Amino acid sequence: MKYRSCHLIEHGISIDVDSIKSCCLSREFNKGQPILIPQFEASIINWEHIFKVKRQQRRYQQEKDIPDCEGCYNLRIEDWDDEDYISYINFDHWSQCNSNCIYCGVQKNKPKTKNNTLKAIKELIKSGKFKNNGEITFQGGEPTILKEFEDLIKIFIKEGSKIRVHSSGILFSRAIRNGLKQGCVTVVISPDSVTKETYKKVKRVDKSNKVWDNIKHYRKDLNENYASLVKVKYIIIPGINDNLDEINLFMETLKKLDIRSVIVDIEYTYANTHINNISPHIFILMDYIENFAKENKMSFELYDSALYANKNRDFKKITNFNFDNIKQIVENYKQENTKYNIKYKN
Ligand code: SF4
Repeated sequence: MKYRSCHLIEHGISIDVDSIKSCCLSREFNKGQPILIPQFEASIINWEHIFKVKRQQRRYQQEKDIPDCEGCYNLRIEDWDDEDYISYINFDHWSQCNSNCIYCGVQKNKPKTKNNTLKAIKELIKSGKFKNNGEITFQGGEPTILKEFEDLIKIFIKEGSKIRVHSSGILFSRAIRNGLKQGCVTVVISPDSVTKETYKKVKRVDKSNKVWDNIKHYRKDLNENYASLVKVKYIIIPGINDNLDEINLFMETLKKLDIRSVIVDIEYTYANTHINNISPHIFILMDYIENFAKENKMSFELYDSALYANKNRDFKKITNFNFDNIKQIVENYKQENTKYNIKYKN
């Protein structure tokens, strides 16, 4: 049936800290995401209940947008099937992490959950209600230290799924490495810096060397077709790493390591609170990265907050990429930036 919806309303689940939702998108104006189960225990996910709620949400969506989804860039008119199956699973349960990022949205004093989902995932696959035509993503918390991580990756590789793992990169994972070699795993690592000092400010752990070593090892010996499966991300954090020297060094390092894919995001609390008032220097830095990537045949991607900021941007794209010139403009904007409420810490 043809109507406005999104692939995640139709066939997605996101396993959150204490609930199961259709997606995990963090969006402008602090909108939520459609909830499927408000409280859950990961090992006993009631799939029939999930499908029941999904059917209700799809019916609602056929009439008008689910309030949580209003304004989402994923909504599109399409001829959706009405079958019960899951093809997008996002593991986002934050049970463990080996980093301590300054922008992390999860309360550190929250009791750690032990959301081992392996049993429930096996049940879903056994029931025949999993299809491999979507994507499996791992994000909140550090997936490589989960007990069930290697098994989950093996299961989804066997199912022929496309898998995307967001990792701190602090731990080298054989499962990721094997998946990269087979062309079915994409790994996204976000060091947000190259210099040890900035890394420590952002991550509040001293693991910069380890992370860059692991990025190098994931990339090493990958065949040409799979080279862009190693993606390195730079989250622009106003007041911490929003300077051209750090960004240029970051891009030069990617070039040296022959990394073919760069992702940019903007720290989400800043982006959320300034969505129509993003400081121009942040757009200039984004443009610089995009141009550097283009000149060096790297793919360039924006993640959530940067996507929304870019959509609402009225600051023109820059065309002169002379380093000294841009550096001066960036610094000028930063000097007069009190109106953007950026508290500079560096
Ligand atoms: S918030 Fe967006 S991505 Fe999430 S389910 Fe709704 S439309 Fe889909």
